[in-house]
Amino acid sequence: MMSRRARIINLLEERDLSPSEIVLLLGLRGRGARNLVLEDLRAISRILRREGKVLLIKPAVCRKCGFTFRPEIKVPGRCPRCRSEWIEEPRFRIEDRG
Ligand SMILES: [Zn+2]
Repeated sequence: MMSRRARIINLLEERDLSPSEIVLLLGLRGRGARNLVLEDLRAISRILRREGKVLLIKPAVCRKCGFTFRPEIKVPGRCPRCRSEWIEEPRFRIEDRG
């Protein structure tokens, strides 16, 4: 049985995913599931650096006004420009640094 982090790495080498999509694909449950995935992503980003790979981040975007957040491993709760909570999650993908 692969560890959760190993499964996330495998998924992100195939395609880009948001934290909520990863939660669904891994069949995780409960309120803390998405935060758990975000913690895993932070650890994964450190592990990958040692393997010559990189975790690419497509930043979160406000779906109301289009504001683009900083490319970070977190899901913002609210747009600083228009205060909307309708936020498109960041997306993550793994690539060789090349
Ligand atoms: Zn906004």
